[in-house]
Amino acid sequence: MDIILLGPPGAGKGTQAHRLVEKYSMVQLSTGDMLRAAVKAGTPVGLQAKAVMEAGELVSDDIVSALICDALDALDEGTGVIFDGYPRTAPQAHSLDTILSDRGRVLDHVIELEVNEEALIDRITGRFTCANCGAGYHDRYKLPEMEGTCDRCGSTEFKRRKDDNAETVRQRMVEYRAKTAPILPIYEERDVVTRVDGMDDMDSVTESLVKVVEG
Ligand code: ADP
Ligand code: ADP
Ligand code: ZN
Repeated sequence: MDIILLGPPGAGKGTQAHRLVEKYSMVQLSTGDMLRAAVKAGTPVGLQAKAVMEAGELVSDDIVSALICDALDALDEGTGVIFDGYPRTAPQAHSLDTILSDRGRVLDHVIELEVNEEALIDRITGRFTCANCGAGYHDRYKLPEMEGTCDRCGSTEFKRRKDDNAETVRQRMVEYRAKTAPILPIYEERDVVTRVDGMDDMDSVTESLVKVVEG
């Protein structure tokens, strides 16, 4: 099964993708995570992407589509994928069609997490993750059960993203509205879109997603 999780920055894509990965043996492919890894490693892609990401703008379609191809080709046969943060533009959506059909894969669901924008700044500026295992947290909505210690791996190191500030988030939302939201009609025509209320608490959102996945 292949699924796209769509929604503006802070909608809960990463949070929910992690939960689905734990529940089903699928993998999450996040172009944001791949790009951050490339920036950290100082690869040519990372060098090109760094400033663009810090400005809250979109990295070129060719770069992200190439990252997705490489990631898909590294998977074991039969592994389902949750696309998180990709595709983000119409050209990426069209590339993904080719990428999937070339590999005999079929897109089963496009799930849009619907959220209101006022909540997003708050979600994003309070976001932090475990530096060791990547588990996601929030200053108010999801603190570790034991203060300062990751629930999942016990690490005491956490990190915050450089682009998770109010100014950059606003630019990311502008990009979402202008370039990403307009790809929904492409999928609506194919009858694969489900809308889920992303303003619900995290567990309720997960339940809604499970319903979609289990049909
Ligand atoms: P969020 O999930 O908070 O929206 P991401 O981690 O998905 O953020 O993306 C962070 C940044 O990485 C984006 O602002 C953009 O610069 C870049 N990026 C990630 N995915 C893509 C993509 N599919 N196309 C272009 N740029 C991307
Ligand atoms: P995205 O990947 O779409 O950018 P995240 O999954 O990283 O979003 O979520 C952004 C922040 O909001 C994280 O700190 C996360 O813990 C928190 N969050 C996610 N879903 C919810 C929710 N349903 N209610 C409250 N906070 C949430
Ligand atoms: Zn951890």
